[in-house]
Amino acid sequence: TRFIDIQQVTKNFSAVRAVDNVDLTIRRGEFFSLLGPSGCGKTTLLRMLAGFEAPSEGEIYIDQQPMSAVPPHLRPTNMVFQSYAIFPHLNVGQNIAYGLRKLRLPASDVQKQVEEMLALIKLPGYAERRADQLSGGQRQRVALARALIRQPKVLLLDEPLGALDKKLREQMQLELRELQERLGITFVFVTHDQEEALTMSDRIAVMHAGKILQVADPHGLYERPNCARVAAFIGSMNFAPAEVRGLEGDRLAVQAAGFGAVNASANGHAWNAGDRIMVAVRPEKLGLTTERPERQGLHSVNGKVAAAAYLGDRSHYYVKLEGVDSPLAVSAQNADRSVEGWLEAGVDVWVTWSDNA
Ligand code: ADP
Ligand code: MG
Repeated sequence: TRFIDIQQVTKNFSAVRAVDNVDLTIRRGEFFSLLGPSGCGKTTLLRMLAGFEAPSEGEIYIDQQPMSAVPPHLRPTNMVFQSYAIFPHLNVGQNIAYGLRKLRLPASDVQKQVEEMLALIKLPGYAERRADQLSGGQRQRVALARALIRQPKVLLLDEPLGALDKKLREQMQLELRELQERLGITFVFVTHDQEEALTMSDRIAVMHAGKILQVADPHGLYERPNCARVAAFIGSMNFAPAEVRGLEGDRLAVQAAGFGAVNASANGHAWNAGDRIMVAVRPEKLGLTTERPERQGLHSVNGKVAAAAYLGDRSHYYVKLEGVDSPLAVSAQNADRSVEGWLEAGVDVWVTWSDNA
């Protein structure tokens, strides 16, 4: 299962430590994403997998083989870049066949493989089309076909959808995921877009400043972030300073600023009574009502709407609590009956939550 094995890899560019002592294993056939803000080292890590950069320290193994002495063209990898790296003076078929040029195959073999690739990327009959007449999405599919025609075991994709508009990007996300499942090739996908990573990936590594903060599947990252940085980067998160009062297995009784006494998950950390911690709660785990709720097991605290945004399917509210500086983010589904109508800034509300949230 250790198909790609990155062991204690560091990359320095003179004074800049772009990748900082990274340990990471990627499984065969996995759709794996490297996610993090611009400048955190995603591209550098990907380029070391491709062999375009050598690690300053550490070793990368692919399929048990150490890669340090293997040049890019002999690695079982191929790369797709953000900018469509296709040749405008060649037609679509020539672009796709470009990767085969060194193999000196008979023309009929090349044509057959190109046609297979065109079917794969859903552009059948496009071989003679001029590359500069393609749309952005079509160009990126041609770049994908060119990378896949050599049948790499690993496809490295560096923000390949970054230049596309939102609608097309969402469509390509689904197509790319479907293609990966059909081919069973290992994809290592770089993105700074957390929704994109959550949509597409089997597992995600969240990076920050050259380090990996957490590796988990989308559900695990969202529900069990291992630190405040991951929690804030994946979706949005409210934080409240709190003090631990008691422990019961993985549940903590805490006193949290603005909320009072609440129950929280210890999230795998070993806390002690008296510890100062931050309690984290997702905006969608909170509810809003205009009257004090009476329901059993539902906790509430009084506040005032500071700002409200209507987003169609849901609304976003910021609620100011007594004695807490930063307002609390609350996200309410508009189909959900818990919030009647539209709450404007200045309205007095109750923020609610249940114990198992
Ligand atoms: P990301 O892809 O996450 O945006 P990069 O891997 O491109 O991040 O960059 C990580 C850090 O390394 C940045 O600070 C960047 O400026 C630096 N860096 C990347 N490539 C080079 C290079 N060839 N020379 C010097 N610094 C570089
Ligand atoms: Mg990059």
